[in-house]
Amino acid sequence: MAVKQLGRCFLCGNSISEAKQLLKGKFGYVCDSCIREAYAILNLEEEDIFQDVQSATPSQIKEHLDQYVIGQDDAKITLAVAVYNHYKRIGQNKSTNVEIQKSNILMIGSTGSGKTYLVQSLAKFLGVPFAIADATTLTQAGYVGDDVENILLRLLENADFDVKLAEQGIIYIDEIDKISRKGENISITRDVSGEGVQQALLKILEGTVARVPVSGGRKHPQGECINIDTSDILFICGGAFDGLEKIVHKEADNRPIGFHADIEGERAGEAGTLDSADIQQNDLVKYGLMPELIGRLPIITTLQPLSAEDLIRILTEPKNALVKQYQELLAMDQVDLEFEEAALRRIAELSIEKSTGARGLRSVIEKAMKNVMYMIPDIEGRKRVIITADVIDGRKDAVICVCRKGIA
Ligand code: ADP
Repeated sequence: MAVKQLGRCFLCGNSISEAKQLLKGKFGYVCDSCIREAYAILNLEEEDIFQDVQSATPSQIKEHLDQYVIGQDDAKITLAVAVYNHYKRIGQNKSTNVEIQKSNILMIGSTGSGKTYLVQSLAKFLGVPFAIADATTLTQAGYVGDDVENILLRLLENADFDVKLAEQGIIYIDEIDKISRKGENISITRDVSGEGVQQALLKILEGTVARVPVSGGRKHPQGECINIDTSDILFICGGAFDGLEKIVHKEADNRPIGFHADIEGERAGEAGTLDSADIQQNDLVKYGLMPELIGRLPIITTLQPLSAEDLIRILTEPKNALVKQYQELLAMDQVDLEFEEAALRRIAELSIEKSTGARGLRSVIEKAMKNVMYMIPDIEGRKRVIITADVIDGRKDAVICVCRKGIA
Protein backbone atom coordinates (compact mmCIF):
# COMPACT_ATOMS: atom_id res chain seq x y z
CA MET A 1 0.00 0.00 0.00
CA ALA A 2 2.72 2.43 1.00
CA VAL A 3 4.69 1.64 -2.16
CA LYS A 4 1.64 2.33 -4.32
CA GLN A 5 1.07 5.78 -2.74
CA LEU A 6 4.70 6.74 -3.19
CA GLY A 7 4.57 5.86 -6.85
CA ARG A 8 2.13 8.64 -7.77
CA CYS A 9 2.75 12.12 -9.15
CA PHE A 10 2.15 14.42 -6.19
CA LEU A 11 0.72 17.11 -8.51
CA CYS A 12 -1.84 15.25 -10.66
CA GLY A 13 -1.99 11.90 -8.93
CA ASN A 14 -0.98 9.86 -12.00
CA SER A 15 0.39 6.47 -11.02
CA ILE A 16 3.47 4.75 -12.42
CA SER A 17 1.32 2.84 -14.89
CA GLU A 18 -0.50 6.02 -16.11
CA ALA A 19 2.59 8.22 -16.54
CA LYS A 20 5.35 7.59 -19.08
CA GLN A 21 7.94 8.64 -16.55
CA LEU A 22 8.02 9.57 -12.90
CA LEU A 23 10.79 11.82 -11.64
CA LYS A 24 11.78 11.04 -8.08
CA GLY A 25 12.42 14.05 -5.84
CA LYS A 26 13.23 14.41 -2.16
CA PHE A 27 9.59 14.52 -1.09
CA GLY A 28 7.82 12.52 -3.80
CA TYR A 29 7.34 12.03 -7.54
CA VAL A 30 6.41 14.29 -10.46
CA CYS A 31 5.15 12.84 -13.75
CA ASP A 32 6.40 13.77 -17.24
CA SER A 33 3.18 15.51 -18.27
CA CYS A 34 3.25 17.84 -15.23
CA ILE A 35 6.91 18.67 -15.92
CA ARG A 36 6.02 19.47 -19.55
CA GLU A 37 3.10 21.67 -18.48
CA ALA A 38 5.21 23.57 -15.96
CA TYR A 39 7.93 24.10 -18.54
CA ALA A 40 5.39 25.48 -21.05
CA ILE A 41 4.02 27.91 -18.44
CA LEU A 42 7.52 29.18 -17.61
CA ASN A 43 8.43 29.67 -21.26
CA LEU A 44 5.17 31.45 -21.96
CA GLU A 45 5.66 33.86 -19.06
CA GLU A 46 9.17 34.72 -20.16
CA GLU A 47 8.08 35.34 -23.77
CA ASP A 48 5.14 37.44 -22.62
CA ILE A 49 7.30 39.75 -20.50
CA PHE A 50 9.77 40.10 -23.28
CA GLN A 51 7.15 40.86 -25.93
CA ASP A 52 5.51 43.48 -23.71
CA VAL A 53 8.79 45.27 -23.24
CA GLN A 54 9.63 45.09 -26.91
CA SER A 55 6.26 46.23 -28.17
CA ALA A 56 6.47 49.72 -26.62
CA THR A 57 7.77 52.22 -29.17
CA PRO A 58 9.99 55.15 -28.15
CA SER A 59 7.10 57.60 -28.49
CA GLN A 60 4.90 55.40 -26.27
CA ILE A 61 7.67 55.22 -23.69
CA LYS A 62 8.05 59.00 -23.74
CA GLU A 63 4.30 59.48 -23.52
CA HIS A 64 4.31 57.41 -20.34
CA LEU A 65 7.25 59.34 -18.87
CA ASP A 66 5.43 62.62 -19.66
CA GLN A 67 2.71 61.64 -17.19
CA TYR A 68 5.20 61.69 -14.33
CA VAL A 69 8.26 63.71 -15.27
CA ILE A 70 8.01 67.40 -16.16
CA GLY A 71 10.30 68.77 -18.89
CA GLN A 72 13.64 67.03 -19.55
CA ASP A 73 12.59 66.17 -23.10
CA ASP A 74 16.12 65.44 -24.28
CA ALA A 75 16.66 62.89 -21.52
CA LYS A 76 13.22 61.35 -22.06
CA ILE A 77 13.74 60.90 -25.80
CA THR A 78 17.30 59.62 -25.34
CA LEU A 79 16.18 57.08 -22.72
CA ALA A 80 13.14 55.99 -24.74
CA VAL A 81 15.20 55.33 -27.87
CA ALA A 82 18.03 53.67 -25.95
CA VAL A 83 15.71 51.35 -24.06
CA TYR A 84 13.78 50.49 -27.22
CA ASN A 85 17.02 49.61 -29.00
CA HIS A 86 18.33 47.75 -25.98
CA TYR A 87 15.41 45.33 -25.88
CA LYS A 88 15.46 44.98 -29.68
CA ARG A 89 19.12 44.05 -29.34
CA ILE A 90 18.33 41.39 -26.72
CA GLY A 91 15.68 39.95 -29.03
CA GLN A 92 18.06 40.04 -32.00
CA ASN A 93 18.36 36.85 -33.98
CA LYS A 94 21.69 35.56 -32.69
CA SER A 95 22.43 33.81 -35.99
CA THR A 96 23.12 37.10 -37.80
CA ASN A 97 26.69 38.21 -38.36
CA VAL A 98 26.28 41.72 -37.02
CA GLU A 99 26.52 41.86 -33.28
CA ILE A 100 24.79 44.93 -31.88
CA GLN A 101 26.70 46.30 -28.92
CA LYS A 102 25.07 47.34 -25.71
CA SER A 103 24.47 51.04 -25.18
CA ASN A 104 24.64 52.00 -21.52
CA ILE A 105 23.65 55.54 -20.69
CA LEU A 106 25.20 58.45 -18.78
CA MET A 107 22.80 61.07 -17.41
CA ILE A 108 24.21 64.41 -16.34
CA GLY A 109 22.04 66.80 -14.35
CA SER A 110 21.97 68.72 -11.10
CA THR A 111 20.55 67.28 -7.86
CA GLY A 112 16.80 66.92 -7.88
CA SER A 113 16.41 67.43 -11.62
CA GLY A 114 14.72 64.04 -12.03
CA LYS A 115 17.47 61.56 -13.01
CA THR A 116 16.48 58.82 -10.56
CA TYR A 117 12.79 59.50 -11.01
CA LEU A 118 13.08 59.15 -14.79
CA VAL A 119 14.78 55.77 -14.58
CA GLN A 120 12.40 54.57 -11.86
CA SER A 121 9.37 55.55 -13.95
CA LEU A 122 10.91 53.89 -16.98
CA ALA A 123 11.61 50.56 -15.26
CA LYS A 124 8.12 50.54 -13.75
CA PHE A 125 6.56 51.07 -17.16
CA LEU A 126 8.63 48.34 -18.77
CA GLY A 127 7.98 45.94 -15.91
CA VAL A 128 11.60 44.81 -15.83
CA PRO A 129 13.61 44.22 -12.65
CA PHE A 130 15.31 47.38 -11.47
CA ALA A 131 17.93 48.26 -8.88
CA ILE A 132 19.46 51.52 -7.70
CA ALA A 133 22.99 51.80 -6.34
CA ASP A 134 24.92 54.72 -4.96
CA ALA A 135 28.44 54.79 -6.38
CA THR A 136 29.78 56.50 -3.26
CA THR A 137 28.98 53.45 -1.13
CA LEU A 138 30.80 51.08 -3.47
CA THR A 139 34.30 49.89 -2.80
CA GLN A 140 36.76 47.83 -4.74
CA ALA A 141 37.05 44.23 -3.57
CA GLY A 142 38.83 43.82 -0.26
CA TYR A 143 37.76 47.15 1.23
CA VAL A 144 35.03 47.75 3.78
CA GLY A 145 31.78 48.66 2.06
CA ASP A 146 29.49 47.51 -0.71
CA ASP A 147 31.07 45.25 -3.32
CA VAL A 148 30.05 46.00 -6.88
CA GLU A 149 28.49 42.51 -7.04
CA ASN A 150 26.00 43.60 -4.39
CA ILE A 151 24.27 45.74 -7.00
CA LEU A 152 23.61 42.57 -8.96
CA LEU A 153 22.29 40.90 -5.84
CA ARG A 154 19.79 43.71 -5.38
CA LEU A 155 18.64 43.28 -8.98
CA LEU A 156 18.34 39.53 -8.47
CA GLU A 157 16.27 40.07 -5.32
CA ASN A 158 13.98 42.43 -7.22
CA ALA A 159 13.58 39.74 -9.89
CA ASP A 160 12.57 37.33 -7.14
CA PHE A 161 15.73 35.31 -7.82
CA ASP A 162 14.73 34.65 -11.44
CA VAL A 163 18.24 34.84 -12.94
CA LYS A 164 17.04 35.08 -16.56
CA LEU A 165 14.77 37.97 -15.74
CA ALA A 166 17.45 39.77 -13.73
CA GLU A 167 19.84 39.42 -16.66
CA GLN A 168 17.49 41.66 -18.69
CA GLY A 169 16.93 44.24 -15.99
CA ILE A 170 18.01 47.85 -15.52
CA ILE A 171 20.54 49.13 -12.97
CA TYR A 172 20.83 52.79 -12.08
CA ILE A 173 24.12 53.87 -10.53
CA ASP A 174 23.77 57.28 -8.93
CA GLU A 175 26.55 59.74 -8.05
CA ILE A 176 28.95 58.29 -10.59
CA ASP A 177 30.71 61.67 -10.64
CA LYS A 178 31.71 61.22 -6.98
CA ILE A 179 34.08 58.35 -7.79
CA SER A 180 36.12 60.43 -10.16
CA ARG A 181 39.88 60.27 -9.76
CA LYS A 182 40.10 63.76 -8.35
CA GLY A 183 37.25 63.07 -5.96
CA GLU A 184 37.41 64.62 -2.52
CA ASN A 185 35.63 61.72 -0.88
CA ILE A 186 38.76 60.55 0.82
CA SER A 187 38.33 57.99 3.56
CA ILE A 188 40.61 55.45 5.10
CA THR A 189 38.13 52.65 4.55
CA ARG A 190 37.97 53.05 0.78
CA ASP A 191 40.44 53.61 -1.99
CA VAL A 192 41.32 57.25 -2.20
CA SER A 193 41.09 57.78 -5.92
CA GLY A 194 37.85 56.01 -6.74
CA GLU A 195 39.72 54.38 -9.58
CA GLY A 196 39.40 50.92 -8.02
CA VAL A 197 35.63 51.30 -7.98
CA GLN A 198 35.66 52.49 -11.56
CA GLN A 199 37.67 49.40 -12.51
CA ALA A 200 35.21 47.13 -10.74
CA LEU A 201 32.25 48.86 -12.38
CA LEU A 202 33.88 48.65 -15.76
CA LYS A 203 33.82 44.86 -15.62
CA ILE A 204 30.10 44.54 -15.01
CA LEU A 205 29.26 47.34 -17.45
CA GLU A 206 31.25 45.61 -20.18
CA GLY A 207 29.45 42.33 -19.74
CA THR A 208 30.82 39.56 -17.61
CA VAL A 209 29.60 36.52 -15.76
CA ALA A 210 29.71 37.72 -12.17
CA ARG A 211 29.60 35.43 -9.18
CA VAL A 212 27.08 36.94 -6.83
CA PRO A 213 27.18 35.75 -3.23
CA VAL A 214 23.67 35.06 -2.06
CA SER A 215 23.74 34.64 1.68
CA GLY A 216 21.15 34.49 4.38
CA GLY A 217 18.26 35.17 2.00
CA ARG A 218 14.94 33.40 2.31
CA LYS A 219 15.63 31.29 -0.77
CA HIS A 220 19.33 30.78 -0.21
CA PRO A 221 19.91 30.45 3.52
CA GLN A 222 23.12 28.45 3.10
CA GLY A 223 24.93 31.28 1.34
CA GLU A 224 25.85 30.12 -2.11
CA CYS A 225 26.96 31.96 -5.25
CA ILE A 226 24.82 32.56 -8.31
CA ASN A 227 26.31 33.37 -11.71
CA ILE A 228 24.82 36.39 -13.43
CA ASP A 229 25.67 37.36 -16.99
CA THR A 230 25.62 41.16 -17.17
CA SER A 231 25.85 41.39 -20.99
CA ASP A 232 22.16 42.23 -21.40
CA ILE A 233 21.67 44.32 -18.26
CA LEU A 234 21.16 47.97 -19.12
CA PHE A 235 23.28 50.25 -16.95
CA ILE A 236 22.30 53.86 -16.54
CA CYS A 237 24.73 56.04 -14.61
CA GLY A 238 23.86 59.45 -13.28
CA GLY A 239 25.61 62.35 -11.63
CA ALA A 240 25.50 66.10 -11.09
CA PHE A 241 29.05 66.62 -12.41
CA ASP A 242 29.37 70.00 -10.67
CA GLY A 243 31.91 72.12 -12.49
CA LEU A 244 31.84 70.05 -15.69
CA GLU A 245 30.53 73.07 -17.60
CA LYS A 246 33.76 74.92 -16.81
CA ILE A 247 35.83 72.08 -18.32
CA VAL A 248 33.52 71.85 -21.33
CA HIS A 249 33.65 75.57 -22.05
CA LYS A 250 37.38 75.83 -21.42
CA GLU A 251 38.03 72.91 -23.73
CA ALA A 252 35.72 74.42 -26.31
CA ASP A 253 37.63 77.71 -26.17
CA ASN A 254 40.83 75.78 -26.82
CA ARG A 255 39.26 74.07 -29.82
CA PRO A 256 39.69 76.64 -32.55
CA ILE A 257 38.14 74.55 -35.27
CA GLY A 258 34.78 73.03 -34.63
CA PHE A 259 31.13 73.47 -35.09
CA HIS A 260 30.32 74.20 -31.46
CA ALA A 261 33.26 76.44 -30.68
CA ASP A 262 31.48 79.80 -30.83
CA ILE A 263 28.28 78.69 -29.19
CA GLU A 264 30.10 77.09 -26.28
CA GLY A 265 32.14 80.23 -25.71
CA GLU A 266 28.93 82.24 -25.40
CA ARG A 267 27.49 79.82 -22.90
CA ALA A 268 30.46 79.97 -20.58
CA GLY A 269 28.55 81.91 -17.92
CA GLU A 270 25.58 79.55 -17.73
CA ALA A 271 26.52 77.10 -15.03
CA GLY A 272 24.69 73.81 -15.10
CA THR A 273 22.98 74.28 -18.45
CA LEU A 274 25.04 71.86 -20.48
CA ASP A 275 23.85 70.41 -23.73
CA SER A 276 24.71 66.76 -24.34
CA ALA A 277 26.01 67.67 -27.81
CA ASP A 278 28.63 69.93 -26.21
CA ILE A 279 30.16 67.24 -24.02
CA GLN A 280 33.16 65.45 -25.43
CA GLN A 281 34.54 62.21 -23.98
CA ASN A 282 37.72 64.07 -23.17
CA ASP A 283 35.84 66.50 -20.92
CA LEU A 284 34.70 63.57 -18.81
CA VAL A 285 38.24 62.17 -18.67
CA LYS A 286 39.40 65.58 -17.44
CA TYR A 287 36.65 65.41 -14.83
CA GLY A 288 38.16 62.18 -13.55
CA LEU A 289 36.36 59.27 -15.18
CA MET A 290 38.45 56.53 -16.76
CA PRO A 291 38.38 56.57 -20.58
CA GLU A 292 37.44 52.88 -20.56
CA LEU A 293 34.45 53.57 -18.34
CA ILE A 294 33.30 56.46 -20.52
CA GLY A 295 33.68 54.15 -23.51
CA ARG A 296 31.14 51.83 -21.89
CA LEU A 297 28.66 54.68 -21.53
CA PRO A 298 28.29 55.71 -25.16
CA ILE A 299 24.96 57.49 -24.80
CA ILE A 300 25.10 60.79 -22.94
CA THR A 301 22.14 62.92 -22.05
CA THR A 302 21.77 66.02 -19.91
CA LEU A 303 18.96 67.19 -17.66
CA GLN A 304 18.42 70.90 -17.26
CA PRO A 305 18.11 72.63 -13.88
CA LEU A 306 14.43 73.12 -13.06
CA SER A 307 13.05 76.67 -13.24
CA ALA A 308 10.38 78.07 -10.89
CA GLU A 309 7.81 77.45 -13.64
CA ASP A 310 8.93 73.81 -13.93
CA LEU A 311 8.68 73.35 -10.18
CA ILE A 312 5.15 74.81 -10.10
CA ARG A 313 4.19 72.32 -12.82
CA ILE A 314 5.83 69.51 -10.82
CA LEU A 315 3.77 70.55 -7.81
CA THR A 316 0.48 70.39 -9.66
CA GLU A 317 0.54 68.46 -12.94
CA PRO A 318 1.95 64.91 -12.71
CA LYS A 319 -0.35 62.01 -11.85
CA ASN A 320 1.02 61.88 -8.32
CA ALA A 321 1.86 65.59 -7.98
CA LEU A 322 2.60 66.72 -4.41
CA VAL A 323 -0.39 69.08 -4.26
CA LYS A 324 -2.67 66.22 -5.37
CA GLN A 325 -1.14 63.98 -2.70
CA TYR A 326 -1.79 66.51 0.09
CA GLN A 327 -5.32 67.12 -1.21
CA GLU A 328 -5.95 63.37 -1.15
CA LEU A 329 -4.50 63.03 2.34
CA LEU A 330 -6.57 65.85 3.81
CA ALA A 331 -9.73 64.83 1.95
CA MET A 332 -9.80 61.85 4.31
CA ASP A 333 -10.38 64.39 7.10
CA GLN A 334 -13.12 66.10 5.07
CA VAL A 335 -10.86 68.93 3.95
CA ASP A 336 -10.90 70.76 0.62
CA LEU A 337 -7.31 71.91 0.35
CA GLU A 338 -6.41 74.84 -1.85
CA PHE A 339 -3.00 76.33 -2.68
CA GLU A 340 -3.04 79.91 -3.93
CA GLU A 341 -0.98 80.58 -7.07
CA ALA A 342 1.39 82.82 -5.05
CA ALA A 343 1.90 80.02 -2.51
CA LEU A 344 2.96 77.60 -5.23
CA ARG A 345 5.43 80.16 -6.55
CA ARG A 346 6.84 80.71 -3.06
CA ILE A 347 7.31 76.96 -2.56
CA ALA A 348 9.19 76.81 -5.87
CA GLU A 349 11.35 79.82 -4.98
CA LEU A 350 12.30 78.41 -1.58
CA SER A 351 13.26 75.09 -3.18
CA ILE A 352 15.45 76.87 -5.70
CA GLU A 353 17.17 78.77 -2.86
CA LYS A 354 18.05 75.42 -1.29
CA SER A 355 19.59 74.21 -4.58
CA THR A 356 17.94 70.84 -4.22
CA GLY A 357 15.72 71.04 -7.31
CA ALA A 358 12.39 69.28 -6.96
CA ARG A 359 13.76 67.33 -4.03
CA GLY A 360 13.24 70.28 -1.69
CA LEU A 361 9.55 70.80 -2.55
CA ARG A 362 8.15 68.30 -0.08
CA SER A 363 10.03 69.63 2.93
CA VAL A 364 8.89 73.20 2.20
CA ILE A 365 5.23 72.11 2.04
CA GLU A 366 5.59 69.79 5.02
CA LYS A 367 6.94 72.63 7.17
CA ALA A 368 4.14 74.98 6.16
CA MET A 369 1.42 72.36 6.61
CA LYS A 370 2.58 70.97 9.94
CA ASN A 371 0.30 73.08 12.16
CA VAL A 372 -2.75 72.71 10.00
CA MET A 373 -2.32 68.93 9.77
CA TYR A 374 -2.00 68.87 13.55
CA MET A 375 -5.24 70.77 14.13
CA ILE A 376 -7.51 69.47 11.39
CA PRO A 377 -8.41 66.01 12.77
CA ASP A 378 -9.96 67.67 15.87
CA ILE A 379 -12.28 69.91 13.86
CA GLU A 380 -15.54 68.23 12.93
CA GLY A 381 -17.42 68.64 9.66
CA ARG A 382 -16.39 69.71 6.17
CA LYS A 383 -13.56 72.23 6.08
CA ARG A 384 -11.79 74.37 3.55
CA VAL A 385 -8.09 75.13 4.02
CA ILE A 386 -6.36 77.81 2.00
CA ILE A 387 -2.56 77.94 1.79
CA THR A 388 -1.22 81.38 0.97
CA ALA A 389 2.31 82.66 0.29
CA ASP A 390 2.40 83.98 3.90
CA VAL A 391 1.68 80.49 5.21
CA ILE A 392 4.60 79.14 3.20
CA ASP A 393 6.85 81.87 4.60
CA GLY A 394 5.67 81.07 8.13
CA ARG A 395 4.26 84.57 8.61
CA LYS A 396 0.63 83.45 9.05
CA ASP A 397 -1.36 80.36 9.87
CA ALA A 398 -3.41 78.65 7.19
CA VAL A 399 -7.01 79.82 6.89
CA ILE A 400 -9.40 77.08 7.99
CA CYS A 401 -13.06 77.61 7.03
CA VAL A 402 -15.52 75.27 8.70
CA CYS A 403 -18.50 74.80 6.41
CA ARG A 404 -21.86 74.93 8.14
CA LYS A 405 -24.47 72.45 6.94
CA GLY A 406 -25.56 73.36 3.40
CA ILE A 407 -23.16 76.34 3.19
CA ALA A 408 -19.99 75.83 1.21
P1 ADP B 1 18.08 63.36 -9.00
O1 ADP B 1 18.20 61.87 -9.15
O2 ADP B 1 18.27 64.09 -10.30
O3 ADP B 1 18.92 63.95 -7.92
P2 ADP B 1 15.38 62.74 -8.27
O4 ADP B 1 14.94 62.03 -9.51
O5 ADP B 1 15.73 61.86 -7.12
O6 ADP B 1 16.59 63.70 -8.58
O7 ADP B 1 14.27 63.78 -7.83
C1 ADP B 1 13.76 63.86 -6.51
C2 ADP B 1 12.25 63.94 -6.54
O8 ADP B 1 11.83 65.16 -7.15
C3 ADP B 1 11.61 62.84 -7.37
O9 ADP B 1 11.29 61.73 -6.59
C4 ADP B 1 10.37 63.49 -7.93
O10 ADP B 1 9.31 63.39 -7.02
C5 ADP B 1 10.75 64.95 -8.03
N1 ADP B 1 11.19 65.35 -9.39
C6 ADP B 1 12.46 65.67 -9.76
N2 ADP B 1 12.51 66.05 -11.03
C7 ADP B 1 11.26 65.97 -11.50
C8 ADP B 1 10.67 66.25 -12.78
N3 ADP B 1 11.40 66.71 -13.82
N4 ADP B 1 9.33 66.05 -12.90
C9 ADP B 1 8.59 65.62 -11.85
N5 ADP B 1 9.08 65.35 -10.63
C10 ADP B 1 10.40 65.52 -10.45
